[in-house]
Amino acid sequence: PPFPIFLAGVVQRGFGRGGKDLGCPTANLPDESITPMSSVCKPGVYFGYAQVYGLSGQEGKVHPMVMSLGWNPFYKNERLTAEIHLMHDFKSDFYGNDMQAVVLGYIRPELDYTSREALIEDIDADKRAYMKFGVDPNPTNDALEERALL
Ligand code: ADP
Ligand code: MG
Repeated sequence: PPFPIFLAGVVQRGFGRGGKDLGCPTANLPDESITPMSSVCKPGVYFGYAQVYGLSGQEGKVHPMVMSLGWNPFYKNERLTAEIHLMHDFKSDFYGNDMQAVVLGYIRPELDYTSREALIEDIDADKRAYMKFGVDPNPTNDALEERALL
């Protein structure tokens, strides 16, 4: 895909399922704002940077993020949704706030999880992969191999 990809929209309420319990809340973008991505990317986990507007003390702050582009059960799995986990400890929720993101690269395909433990483990691996390789949109073969072993 033609990275970087730019996304922007108002943070939507999702099903409220699991995200926070798993220690990994994901801010959902509105459906109409993800076309720049869903038209050129397959489902999976991606990385980049994002910022949220209208939070005091946060104005203009840019945070690393990992993002899931996945099939939405609400639409009988016929539509993709984009959910962004920002690597920052926010003091409160920010539903309704404007969010902007730049997607820089792909981490792994979308997976079906049978256990919470497996999911949590993978999210942690995604964050480690990001911290190590995230700022390089064109990693070398060595780096990709190492990433696969994380
Ligand atoms: P929902 O299904 O409504 O998206 P989540 O459990 O995924 O519920 O929580 C997402 C919400 O949590 C976001 O919309 C945002 O308001 C809040 N939030 C707090 N911290 C973060 C963070 N670091 N990254 C993403 N969202 C966060
Ligand atoms: Mg969410």
